[in-house]
Amino acid sequence: MHGLCAVFICPLADIKARISFNIGSAIDFGFIYDEVRHLYCSDNGRVSIDPVVLFKIVLIQYTFGIRSMRQTIKEIEAKHYQEELEREIENDRENHGKKPLKPRACISEPKTKTVKKSKTDPDCGLFHKGEHNKEFAYTTHVACDKHGFVLEADVSAGNIHDSVMFDDVYKNVTEKFPEIEMVGLDSGYRTPWIMKQVFDSSRLPIIPYKRPMTKEGFFKKYDYIYDEYYDCILCPNHQVLKYSTTNREGYREYKSDPKICIDCPVRSQCTKSKNAQKVVTRHVWENYIEDAEDVRHSDKGKEIYKLRKETIERVFADAKVKHGLRYTQYRGLARLKMQVLLTFACMNLKKLANWKRKSGLLPPKPANLFYLFAFIPGLLHIFEEPHQGSCLNEVLLIST
Ligand code: SF4
Repeated sequence: MHGLCAVFICPLADIKARISFNIGSAIDFGFIYDEVRHLYCSDNGRVSIDPVVLFKIVLIQYTFGIRSMRQTIKEIEAKHYQEELEREIENDRENHGKKPLKPRACISEPKTKTVKKSKTDPDCGLFHKGEHNKEFAYTTHVACDKHGFVLEADVSAGNIHDSVMFDDVYKNVTEKFPEIEMVGLDSGYRTPWIMKQVFDSSRLPIIPYKRPMTKEGFFKKYDYIYDEYYDCILCPNHQVLKYSTTNREGYREYKSDPKICIDCPVRSQCTKSKNAQKVVTRHVWENYIEDAEDVRHSDKGKEIYKLRKETIERVFADAKVKHGLRYTQYRGLARLKMQVLLTFACMNLKKLANWKRKSGLLPPKPANLFYLFAFIPGLLHIFEEPHQGSCLNEVLLIST
């Protein structure tokens, strides 16, 4: 299996990918199946991870000195995204009659990035709250159904972008609840890759409107109209911006003719470029975002979007205000994750108990001191009768 490689987008990644590829090609790991066959049951129990995959994950972890198994899996998943994107870029370039991109030079130095770390809790990350406020924090990524039952949750450092955490949460929740049909998402998850994943899994994403982030006084991105038939962009001054190339990041570049732009009366609102050339980019998976926009404007999309305030927003509000998640009580990701998961488990139980009481499925509420003792058997009673079909999971809402 050549998916052995851990992946980064920097040149160092190519080196790692090459080492992994060489190991994967040189050694046939098929013998592991024979070694562990007696430990597996073929007709019973939960579906297990392929033992060779498991072995390779550990091998990658130790080959590249990755600190944890979780991080290793994340890097391998990043590889999956990168491979799909590279395939798409190559197809796109080929369709436009462009040569394939040259491989990245393996010998150049890897890019470095300076990250601010907390001395008190190195696991957390610097979270940007609005435009000016920053604080060290963790973020929780939660998926709930349309009744507000939490189906999946994950915790990350505050400086990890929402879209990075989506893959795990989405994969876990859709494996457990394949009946999900529509997925309501926060604006942080509005990326071409995420929209592609949701559509490709035969579900519909519902994303909120996001204000264009262009500078004040400049045309917005939507002022440049994409013409799908001629594969070009029309600018506000009616000039055609022709396709130029598809770059490594997966964006098609459409460029204007500087000879026309130089005399354009609205150039100051369009571009500051010295050579008077406007470049508009469009992701190779941009059509998925446009399709998601259509879903947002549909009646069903509007109906599901309205559920946000009474489901996922309510879950967050309750978790922060009533269950103490506004501030962390522990240090370290593992401990915090434990606290968060236990909190959501209790919130689910509380909701379930309230449902049962309102439906008359629980004995009448006892008075005063006896209430405490009655509470525990009441909960045990809930476990005996698991929550069934009434909790509709066809709608999923994910937020941070
Ligand atoms: S500067 Fe060029 S691209 Fe921009 S609006 Fe004018 S003609 Fe169009």
